[in-house]
Amino acid sequence: MLAVHEFVRLVPGRNAVAAVRAPSHPRRRRPPKYGALALLRHGLSGRPWPRAWADQPLRDTYDVVIIGGGVHGLAAAYYLAVNHGITDVAVLDKGYIGSGGSGRNTAILRSNYLTPEGVRFYDRSMQLYRTLAADLDYNVMFSRRGHLTLAHNDSSLRTMRWRAEVNQMQGIDSEVIDPAEIKRLVPYLDTSAETRYPILGALYHPPGGIIRHDAVVWGYARGADARGVHIHQDTEVTGIDVAHGKVTGVRTSRGPVSAPVVLNCTAGWSTLICDMAGVQVPVQTFPLQAAVTEPVRPFLDAVVVSGSLHVYVSQTDRGELVFGASVDPYPSYSMRGSLDFIEGLAGHVLELMPSLARLRLLRQWAGLCDMTPDFSPIMGPTPVDGFLVDIGWGTYGFKAGPVSGEAMAATIAAGKPPPLIAPFGLDRFAEGRLLGEKGAASVGH
Ligand SMILES: Cc1cc2nc3c(=O)[nH]c(=O)nc-3n(C[C@H](O)[C@H](O)[C@H](O)COP(=O)(O)OP(=O)(O)OC[C@H]3O[C@@H](n4cnc5c(N)ncnc54)[C@H](O)[C@@H]3O)c2cc1C
Repeated sequence: MLAVHEFVRLVPGRNAVAAVRAPSHPRRRRPPKYGALALLRHGLSGRPWPRAWADQPLRDTYDVVIIGGGVHGLAAAYYLAVNHGITDVAVLDKGYIGSGGSGRNTAILRSNYLTPEGVRFYDRSMQLYRTLAADLDYNVMFSRRGHLTLAHNDSSLRTMRWRAEVNQMQGIDSEVIDPAEIKRLVPYLDTSAETRYPILGALYHPPGGIIRHDAVVWGYARGADARGVHIHQDTEVTGIDVAHGKVTGVRTSRGPVSAPVVLNCTAGWSTLICDMAGVQVPVQTFPLQAAVTEPVRPFLDAVVVSGSLHVYVSQTDRGELVFGASVDPYPSYSMRGSLDFIEGLAGHVLELMPSLARLRLLRQWAGLCDMTPDFSPIMGPTPVDGFLVDIGWGTYGFKAGPVSGEAMAATIAAGKPPPLIAPFGLDRFAEGRLLGEKGAASVGH
């Protein structure tokens, strides 16, 4: 065992979590480098690349078990190791890492939310994303594009003004711009007054952008593995053991694993995992679909979102247009695309950019979104000691991966959530302290 096994209960009674003391010398394995010289060496020698993360044997005990190998689970494991030296950690995923929402999202990053709590939180994630490639020594292809949320009626224009005020108060670069300025930024957008839903203005957020979602997942996995974290794919959690109000471990498709701290990072499946621990959470799972076109020459720099038309679009570095929408209107665990979605999407995209009419769609897909009543996450302790949640990520959780990982790692290390995520506790529902982020999160991503 690498970690020191001293668990200190900091908060007595209900909602207590265990604090894990760090080992003095966490193990570090040197991960492969992908620089120009390494590329040349491998090309000339024909040697295969070493695995980016190792297949480890599943031990029967760990200090911390993280369920879910998406960006949230892997980031939490990475920051546990890097920021707190806690490395006796297992990340368990029933499929392959990134097979959930983290490998299916449209990779939009922004921090122009509606509530001060939300803005501060997502802005910390943007800060971490900006230096992530250097921190992980892995190219995550962050591309700052500018993010436009269009307003087609007076009430959404009012919300945009409200958001701009809240954003500016928090030091976020965000302002309302008029149709002429929108046309200058996105010439292919139909900003004429004759359209069915004329564009009256937009919330413009220059720091917003897109990133390569797989690279983020792989980069965190590689960084965590290098510091001694075990990543177990094809390992499904089938039960959670609780004794005297305290979690004692998990049961998996490969045998039982005991652990005094278990973190649930399973997004669309999170209620199933919470049920296993006997914890109720106000989360419903809805499918969210997206689609991508054939590549075309770069013409769209900004990310364009229309809440009224339930559609958004961005162009990747390879030239494909990526389209998304709001969640399907019924709860389900289905991850299949539907014709109904594509028909609606195409109509709405053409309202915005009629010149795309002849572009061909390459594929569509769906992922699962864990929606909460106030469109904000649920993070921190639960009534079961040692059983923590980082869930409720809905349609907007990819951008929150780094800050959530950092904050959940701090929660485990210190035994209580840091102030940044205190507003997102599960207790807010019983206490009536909902956050009301819907105006900035429903289609905005
Ligand atoms: C189409 C689409 C577009 C989106 N666009 C954006 C966007 O542009 N910007 C943004 O910020 N967010 C976006 N999102 C939301 C974002 O993808 C998610 O909120 C985020 O990826 C959640 O990450 P996660 O790590 O919490 O969960 P996930 O990545 O879903 O990972 C959960 C993991 O848990 C595993 N798991 C489940 N049950 C078990 C079990 N019993 N045992 C073991 N493992 C289990 C799953 O296999 C999965 O890998 C989008 C989502 C979708 C579907």
